[in-house]
This record gives sequence, structure tokens and C-alpha cells, in this order.
Amino acid sequence: MSAIGKALCHSRLWGADGPKRKHYADFISTLIKAAEAHEILRKIPIGGGDAWRLSPAALRLHVAMPSSEDAKANAFFRDLYTSVATSLGEPGALTFSFEAREHTAQVENDVRQWREDRFRFEEADRQRILSNKELMKDKEEPDSFLPMMFCSPTMELGVDISALSTVYLRNAPPTPANYAQRAGRAGRSGQAALVVTYCAAQSPHDQYYFNDRKQLVAGQVKPPALDLANRDLLASHIHAEWLATARVPLAASIPQNLDMDNTDGFPVAEEHLRAFERAKQNTQLPLDLKAIIDTVTPYVELEAFPDLADPETLIESVIAAASGDFDTTFERWRDLYRGALREQGDADQVRNKTNVAPGERKAAANRYKLAADELEMLVHGRATNGSDFYTYRYLATEGFLPGYNFPRLPLYAFIPAMRGTAVLQRPRFLAISEFGPNSLVYHEGRAFRITKAKLPAGRRSDDGNLATETLLLCGQCGAAETSAVAERCQACGSSLGEAERLDSVFRIENVETYPTARITANDEDRQRRGFEIQTVFAWTGDPGDVQTIRLKHGGASLAALSFGRRAKITRLNKGLKRRAEKAICGFVIDPLTGRWLADKNNDDGTGAEPGKSRQQRIVPVVEDHKNSLLLIPDPSFGFNLPEMATLQHALVRAIEISESLEEGEMLGEPMPNRDDRRALLLYEATEGGAGVLSRLMNTPGRWQSLARSALELMHYTFDDKGEFVDGNNPCVEACYRCLMSYYNQPDHENLDRTNRKVIDFLLAMAASDTVKANRASPPRDGGSGPWISRINDWELPAPSATTVDGHKHDLYWPGQLLLAVPGGASENLIASCTARGIDVLDLPADPPATIPANLAQYFGK
Ligand SMILES: [Zn+2]
Ligand SMILES: [Zn+2]
Repeated sequence: MSAIGKALCHSRLWGADGPKRKHYADFISTLIKAAEAHEILRKIPIGGGDAWRLSPAALRLHVAMPSSEDAKANAFFRDLYTSVATSLGEPGALTFSFEAREHTAQVENDVRQWREDRFRFEEADRQRILSNKELMKDKEEPDSFLPMMFCSPTMELGVDISALSTVYLRNAPPTPANYAQRAGRAGRSGQAALVVTYCAAQSPHDQYYFNDRKQLVAGQVKPPALDLANRDLLASHIHAEWLATARVPLAASIPQNLDMDNTDGFPVAEEHLRAFERAKQNTQLPLDLKAIIDTVTPYVELEAFPDLADPETLIESVIAAASGDFDTTFERWRDLYRGALREQGDADQVRNKTNVAPGERKAAANRYKLAADELEMLVHGRATNGSDFYTYRYLATEGFLPGYNFPRLPLYAFIPAMRGTAVLQRPRFLAISEFGPNSLVYHEGRAFRITKAKLPAGRRSDDGNLATETLLLCGQCGAAETSAVAERCQACGSSLGEAERLDSVFRIENVETYPTARITANDEDRQRRGFEIQTVFAWTGDPGDVQTIRLKHGGASLAALSFGRRAKITRLNKGLKRRAEKAICGFVIDPLTGRWLADKNNDDGTGAEPGKSRQQRIVPVVEDHKNSLLLIPDPSFGFNLPEMATLQHALVRAIEISESLEEGEMLGEPMPNRDDRRALLLYEATEGGAGVLSRLMNTPGRWQSLARSALELMHYTFDDKGEFVDGNNPCVEACYRCLMSYYNQPDHENLDRTNRKVIDFLLAMAASDTVKANRASPPRDGGSGPWISRINDWELPAPSATTVDGHKHDLYWPGQLLLAVPGGASENLIASCTARGIDVLDLPADPPATIPANLAQYFGK
């Protein structure tokens, strides 16, 4: 019984005949009904049930006499309320003069500078404020002293506020370097300053530094981890040099760099193209670039990075494609521009029709204005003001030029703000849920609903519907196959016969929002429970680009690891988590306007009324390329879901700690999905990647030491005799010092550091051998050697050699028309063999002790 229940049923009120425990529920509901009838309580619906709120009219406030004897009074709050009450009673405007402002990247550059002036408020600042007074008034920025600013990491970037006396950090900064930057804002010119750092109890990162404060304040500033051999990163730097050689200053606004008279495709301006052509002929450029890249190569293991091993070819190919790539980089802008033009044209037609309802005309006028504001923003990029469509910034955001202050290839949400359109940017992997259909986003204190997806022209099929894709999701490893007729998974070779099939996948680029006046309890519940997001992957490039190694211990296989650079990671939004029919995925959209429509049958019906509009169900996705690693534990371990979850978080955190990564820089996803975990996909979330995964693949002993780090993280140690022992101060199953983190809360109940199978796996891994295998390339001379001797042991007919597509294969039985491929056959090999009527059989890279069943059946064994 709750405290209020006890008080209500107390014998003080009733004597001996008070309500009994079994009557309590009835008693409370009767009481609530009565209170409701007398308007003391008001019923409000929340989520799936009802709640009651005390009516303000039923509150009576009394003056209380301060009593020094009341031991229960909290001295802090008593003093706080009395002092606020006293200051409210005093003449002057003190209480209402509190003012604090944002200083973040979302604030326009000039407003940000005014705020810095107001915050410093020294002689020079006051002069500037005076000269900007009219402009400031225009944007509703006061000209008085600003006592407080709320800052995002933009404040780290060299903003000088000499008079700053106090810095409050709302959590522990990621690294000692960030701490030095942020805390260093205060106490300049030798004056004293106070820096307060708040460490959240639920953040392992904050707790880690709280326990080791010295390391944060006076710790070593580690150089950032960056994958120097990342092709995108190298290409963007080559582009920068190439553009400098072309000596063509780009105009600040994007359309000034394009031929806007050519409405067919708004190609790059003729003048630019001529300059690019000249740059291509420049013979000095490749030499200069080679010299730059040569400064990088000593730090890279060239064997693992074919691009860097041959820098001349890399430079040549990037320069050859640069002009074309420059052109395609503007494709997203062109889509946005065309979309806004079309929207404006449509609205204009309605506006000028003679017989439309007055409401419709007004709505059209509003749409016209929104489209005009958007065009204004797209067309007038400026070098100042942090304009998102300033040409150089746009080229960096799209990854053509280097730039690290903002997410690469973000999704945009267009916001009809007070003055013109504003745009919110989010990294695309977050945007798939945060900008999900009918979600809410916030901007300058107001809520906006994501009402529309911006649909670029040319993505509709002839019937007017959106051209969607089909994905086959491998039920073993989670790889996504885009060819609907594929029979085998390209990553693990298993059959796709029973693979999950998603037929209406559609890539979302950007979204539109509309201000929302009210946020309902339904919205809160929707936001809280969120979407069912699934991550899948596909290797890119040639099959031979995927590196594969196998960890073995005492002859038994522990795990197969495959690493691919720039693997395509796709995140799918399958629908609301709480939707009625789980098998029905996606959202209903109007394929003509992009408006998200209400889906009353399957989700909660938030969204526009369909009316007469065309309807199409799509599964929104976003894609990006990331260095990725697939870890498949040997099936003989038979790990269940909690064991896979424990292993996942142990390995991810061990990588974070041993590679000094921030939380979230290395992500792990269970494959094929959260409910069925057979493999683990690790990928580098940072721009360009940190190069950690390729080091794991190429440095001998890395996995072994990683397994030891994971065990140490789980509070285990090895004593003097090398015996494995539990640590000094361990937790029971998991805690924030070991496996739990703020980010893996959905998995907390699955984590168990004492699970014997996981421990044995990690112990074996710590003592494992690494065996290189390259599954995609055919076995080299003697590569099938162990298999041939085993096949002899098993008394199978001796295989002969055959050549397919120029590659020699040793395990071919002409009588059976059978080719067996240790380590699995590539897609191309399977295709070529199928064309000749040859069966292809995937074998493990190394022969097992007994004859594999699939091989045996061909020989009647
Ligand atoms: Zn697979
Ligand atoms: Zn623990």
C-alpha cells in the first residue's frame, strides 16, 4: 500500500472500522469519482489509460509561520523560496531581468557574435552593439548586458571571452583535450575563474572521469584517431588541391556556379568547366599531391591499403573524375531547388484559380510563401551567417572537400521559422528515427512535426508511384541483398531461400516540417517508444576487397571475421514499435506530395487524413558507407541472445577503451536482428572512420589483447600464477563500470559478466591463433592442400583441377559436375559455374575432422 493509501486507511480517521486492504481499490475509485464530481480532480487521458490532475481552483494557499523548530523543513528550499519571495517584493526589475541565450551552431552567425558582444560588454563591445542596434532590434535581440550563455561545443572553437569568470560543464567532456578547450574559456589574462564539471551518475564515461579526476583536468591530450588511408578522406584533400590549381574562385551562392539558363540539368558553369579542364592538364599537380600523400604513407601499413600502395593511380583516378564528381555533388541541391520551384508553381496555380474555397486559397498562399522562403535560402548562400548553402560549406558537407565540423551528408529538415526558412541538420543514421514520419523536432523553443518527405523528381515509376527497391535480408548474418533473385548471401554464403523480404524500400533524403501548436500525450508516448530501426549491411567493391581472418584455439575455430572498407550500411525504419501488425512494415505516403498519411489500421493514426490522395506504403531507409567488420562466432558455441548481447558490449567497450575512442564512435549491431542474434556487425561511426577496425585485422595479437581487455573490463584478473580470478570489487552481473552504459539500456537485462560460455570464449580468444583466409580469391597453389589430404582420408574420389574465369580451382569432380570451394565461392564464380551446369559447394576454409554433410551427399556417403 502506498503512503497515501496508509494515511487514508489509518485508524486515526476511522477508528476500528476503517476500510480493509481488500476494499482499498474500490474505496480509492469512489473517492476519485467524488472528487471529480466536485471538480477537485480533472481526468486527463495519457497513453493507454487515464490520470487525474488536481484542479488549480481546488488549491488553497495559506501563509505559514516560519518555525525554527520544524526539523523536517529543508533549510535549502526554505531559504531559496524566502529569498525569491523577498526579491519579488522589492522594487526594480531584478527577477525579470534574468536572461540567458543560446550560443550554438543553430544560431545564426551574426546573432552569435552579438551575443558574444553583449556577454563581454566591454568598451569595444558596447560600441559595436551601438552600431548594430537597428539590426539587432530587427532580430529581437536586446542590446543590454547578457549575464549568461548556454553553449554547445561551438564555444570550443576559438571564441575569446576574456571576462568569463565561471564555466559550468553539464557533463564530463569526451577527452582531456575537450576539457582543456572548454574550461580554458574562463580565467584568461591571468584572472581567477571557477570551473564546475557535473558528472552524471548514469554515464559510465562521466563516472570514469569522476573517479579519476586528475586524468581529465591534467591528463594527456591524445591525438585524435583518424584513418589516414580512408579513400573519401584522401579524395577530398586531392579535390581541394585540384580546385586550388584550377584557380577558379567559386561564388558564394550555389546557382552562381551553375548554368541556371540551362534548365535541363543546371550543369556546372562553362567557365568553371574550362578551368577544370586546364587543371587536368597541369603536370605539377600530381607531383604536388604525391608529395602530400608521401607524408602519410610511413604511418600506414601499405599491405592493407591498396589505394595508398599505389598513390599515382589513386591521384590519377581522383583527378580524372574530379570535374564529374564536382558536378554530381550539386545533385542534392538541384533536387531541393527543383522541388521548391515545383511546390511554388503548384501553390500558385491553386492561388490563381477562380473557384476555390477560401480556406484552400489561404492554404495555397501559405504554401507559396514557404516555398519562396525555401528558395531564398537555397539560392542566397553567403560566406557569413553559417549559411548551409554557402558553396564551400555545401561542398564540404557533401564530402567533396575536407571539413570536420559538421556531419557529412546529413539529412535536412526544413523548418518554417519566424523569419524565413531555417534548416536542421542531423547525421543520417540518427535522422532515420529523429526525422521519422510524424515525429516532433524542436527549434528555438518551438515544436515542429515532420509532415513530409521531400521527393526528388525522377524517383517515380511510370505509374506515378515511388520507385522502391527490394531487399533480401540474410537470416544468418544480416547482409542485405538487393538482387531479388539472389540465391546465396554474398557475405556468409548461406541460402537466401527463407530470407526476410522487404519489397517497398525507399531512400529518404530530406524532410519538411510544420509548426505544431499542441503536443499530446499520444505524441509523448509515440516519441518515447519510438520506431523499430534495423541495421543491415552489404560489402562493396570487388569480392576480393573483403578481408577475412579466422580465430582458432587448439585447432578449433572460434570465430570468422570479415572486414570491408566502405561497406554500405542501411538503416531501415520498419514502423512504430507499438504498431498492431508487426509483419506489416513501413508507413503510408502520398507518392505525389510526399505527405505522411494517417495509417489507422496499423499505427496510431498520426498524420494527414488520406482523403482522396493516392496512397503507397514504403519502408524509409538511409544509407552510408562505413568501415565495417562482421564477427560470426563459430556455431558450435550455440550462443543464446543474452550471451551474444554480453559478448557484443564486452567487445565494443574493450575496443573503445583500448583505442581511446569516445562512446558511440564504434558501434555494434546484433545480426541478423535484435531478436535473433547470430553475428555481430561492428562499424566506425565517425566521419572517415578511426581506422581501428583495419588495425584489428592487420596487427598480430590485437584480438588476443582485446579479449584480455574485455575480461579485465568485466572485473576479472590473472593472479601471480597466471590463474584467472574475479576482481577485488566486482558487481554481480553487470554495472556501469563494466558492461552497462547509458546507450545500451535496452540490453541491460541481458548482460551477465559471469556467463561461463562468454568467459570461455574470451579466454580462448585471448590465447587464439589468427589464420588469414581470403574467401573471395581462389585458393592459391597448395591452398587446397589440407582439403586434398583430408579427402583422401575420407576415401572420396580424387578431385582434379579446373580453371574458371582464369582462376585455377583444385577441388573439381568432373563425374559429379561438382566444384567445392574452401572459404566459399564468390558471386561471379557461382554465376559462371551455374552457366556451365556445374554445382558449386561452399566448404569451410579449413577441413573439419569429419566429412561435411553437404560434401558427403554427392558421393553417397
Ligand atoms: Zn549472410
Ligand atoms: Zn560490473
